[in-house]
Amino acid sequence: MRPLISITTHPKSAPDRAVLDQLLEMIISSVERANGLPMIIPLGLSENTLRELYARCDGVLFSGGGDIDPTHYSATTHEKIDGVDAERDRVELMLAKWIADDDKPFFGICRGTQILNVALGGSLYRDISEHASASRHTYYPDFAFDLRPHEIKIEEDSTLAKVIGKPILSVNSLHHQACKDLAPQLVASARAPDGIIEAVEIAHHPFALAVQWHPECLPGDEVMRGLFEAFVAACNSDKMKG
Ligand code: MN
Repeated sequence: MRPLISITTHPKSAPDRAVLDQLLEMIISSVERANGLPMIIPLGLSENTLRELYARCDGVLFSGGGDIDPTHYSATTHEKIDGVDAERDRVELMLAKWIADDDKPFFGICRGTQILNVALGGSLYRDISEHASASRHTYYPDFAFDLRPHEIKIEEDSTLAKVIGKPILSVNSLHHQACKDLAPQLVASARAPDGIIEAVEIAHHPFALAVQWHPECLPGDEVMRGLFEAFVAACNSDKMKG
């Protein structure tokens, strides 16, 4: 049997729902192509139900979406904050903490990087303009899903380095936020030339990786497909352990 991959989703009320629907469809296709069994985790579940679903699946994938309520990282709001959804925050903060306590494989995309950091005690640039020397990272909502405006440099000896197999990678960029203070359990495994963190991993976890870019939008690139394949393979070996 293929490993069951739980994927988080955005609310129906998301201001940019049409775009998020497209991104989610591309994630589902990417998981299926990598030989995983994709399943969407609905919003609105009780903690007990969520915990049972979590226990039943072989891995968890966080999709992209709106901003996290800044109160979760002890910040006030900001004019650029958009698309906050309390229910999505609740579900993903809970899942992220469980993942950090377990060996359950995890892959995060865009917001997935940010919420993992916030769940484990880190903070965010509420808008990348808060970083003194950041270049442009948001090509959204121009729908330039496959434009690759910057490179990333990958840390040697990271999980990401093993998956990607080369130190420099050109990536797309659809984010207006980024990790600021990193949570104690996390390590930055890639950065953009301006210093912005582009990937994080939970240290001492078999496979808990989150990337700030959108590999699901680049299915023609075998390196990007390789990210989904490595994640699904980790879910498969976790499943074998029973
Ligand atoms: Mn970027």
